[in-house]
Amino acid sequence: MKEDSPTVYIVHHIDTEGPLHEPMQEVFKRIETILGVSLNLFPSPQNLKKIQAGQLENVSNSIADAARAIADPHLLGFKSSWSEVDEMLYRMMSKDYRNSLRDSFGNGWIYNWHILDHVGFVTNERRRDLGYLNIFNHYEQILKETDSAQDELHWHFHPLPFFREAHIPATSYDNSFYELHQVMCRRLIEKHWFPRINRAGFHTVRPDSNFFLEQWIPFDASNQSMIEENEQVQKDAINGRFGDWKGAPSDWSVYHPDLYDWRKPGDLKRVIAKCLNLKTRFRNISQNELEIAFSKAQRENSGVYVGVTNHDFREMSVEIEAFYQLLSNVAKNYPDVKFQFSGALGAFRNVLGYSSTEIRKNRIMIEAEINEEVLKVEVVNGALFGSQPYLALKSSTGTYWHDNFDFGKPGKEFFYTFDRNTITLDALSTIAIAANDKYGNTSIVEIQLANASVKSNKPYQQ
Ligand SMILES: [Zn+2]
Repeated sequence: MKEDSPTVYIVHHIDTEGPLHEPMQEVFKRIETILGVSLNLFPSPQNLKKIQAGQLENVSNSIADAARAIADPHLLGFKSSWSEVDEMLYRMMSKDYRNSLRDSFGNGWIYNWHILDHVGFVTNERRRDLGYLNIFNHYEQILKETDSAQDELHWHFHPLPFFREAHIPATSYDNSFYELHQVMCRRLIEKHWFPRINRAGFHTVRPDSNFFLEQWIPFDASNQSMIEENEQVQKDAINGRFGDWKGAPSDWSVYHPDLYDWRKPGDLKRVIAKCLNLKTRFRNISQNELEIAFSKAQRENSGVYVGVTNHDFREMSVEIEAFYQLLSNVAKNYPDVKFQFSGALGAFRNVLGYSSTEIRKNRIMIEAEINEEVLKVEVVNGALFGSQPYLALKSSTGTYWHDNFDFGKPGKEFFYTFDRNTITLDALSTIAIAANDKYGNTSIVEIQLANASVKSNKPYQQ
């Protein structure tokens, strides 16, 4: 089903990570790593100014330019404490600020907060807020205080590097499964929350995360394929190191990925949208990229998903306002095309042509019950996205586990046995089960236990 009128959905995804501190010597080290050069410079404010003025000596002009881009004062202006982040959040989540930026329908700005838990790390040079649910709880509170019901909370995860430093990027979900499931379990049990939309950590999907996402999360706004790539000087981005969306659809279409290669359109069920950076050192949204999106909407008389992304540890207003200017300029050239600030969920549903009736009628609904030592989960309405519902357990001493179900009737019925091969019911306080459908509806059931008997059995919807 096509949209009635061509609309560009502007979806602002924020990798929500809390404060970040960067010592001066780290800036110099980072420039050297990214560019693969040795600066031979003492990390002083004077030398930083030199770099920012493009006056690096003994290097090529392209290296000097690239170093200047990395050391851009805006990019180095990290908010290093929660009070600095919060000052920005209260200001930017106010009605006044949101309404100073209006879409074609007169509505104000919407944020999609992709919340990260910094966990599993043993060093913390950048003073990140380490701990399960810390950032989630912080944002939950601020969303409430600022009356920001139009915003959405979504998923973001950083795989763990070999040496578990909190500031080092990595790509392997296989190496991170313990923490990954701990985050999933705690959000499900403590917050009745289950992910529906992914933003890949470091923009990076690999076969292991491709398989993981396909089991649980129906939408992903991580494709950074661009019409023109310009990453030659930045050594941390060549040969597909981090990111790597080469060959993925770059025309702002959404696509189902392939089992073996996340960049290729294929037969998997989840849907990937394109999402470019705001004001960073590469893969930025541009006039040209926006023109492509608007002309696609006009040509196809359809909805187009335009994701843009940044971080909560920089001054986001500078990035958003520069983007808004770009957007207004491009929109003027396409009077027939409307643009709408949008929650990610609504935008995916609209570009995929799901009607509200269809979404409501087929809404996934699961029920669960315990008979003796066996948990039975049934899909009583709609169809499951992925292979099985997600199972999270919490012991009476506060330990969390995830496990597979045993499969009964395909797609409809799942079992789990509590015994000495797993854990006995008397050791548990909570069992939570979550399931998504392809529309991004979520059904959650939570069973509370005491002394091996059921105290409550309650459904939750997000
Ligand atoms: Zn991140």
